[in-house]
Amino acid sequence: MARRRGDAARARAAQQAEPLGSLSQAAGPVVPGTEACLRCGERDLTRIRMTLVGGRLAVFVSCPSCEQTNWFALDGEGVPLGRGEIGGDTA
Ligand SMILES: [Zn+2]
Repeated sequence: MARRRGDAARARAAQQAEPLGSLSQAAGPVVPGTEACLRCGERDLTRIRMTLVGGRLAVFVSCPSCEQTNWFALDGEGVPLGRGEIGGDTA
């Protein structure tokens, strides 16, 4: 019984997350690749906009469920950035 209740609560939470929340809208259009966690599909992600080395705009995405983290370029196509693209060892 507890299991069924949990499932229902999860389904409801997923439904509420379905329309673009005010949080992601306030931050602007959703960047490709950041709609849901690549690993587990979690949609309630932490998204932080940052400017990378070289002035490229990117979004840092952190998943509260599986702790997966990724970087996505604002002008990207939903493919997570590699370490070299984020900045650091590109010199
Ligand atoms: Zn995840």
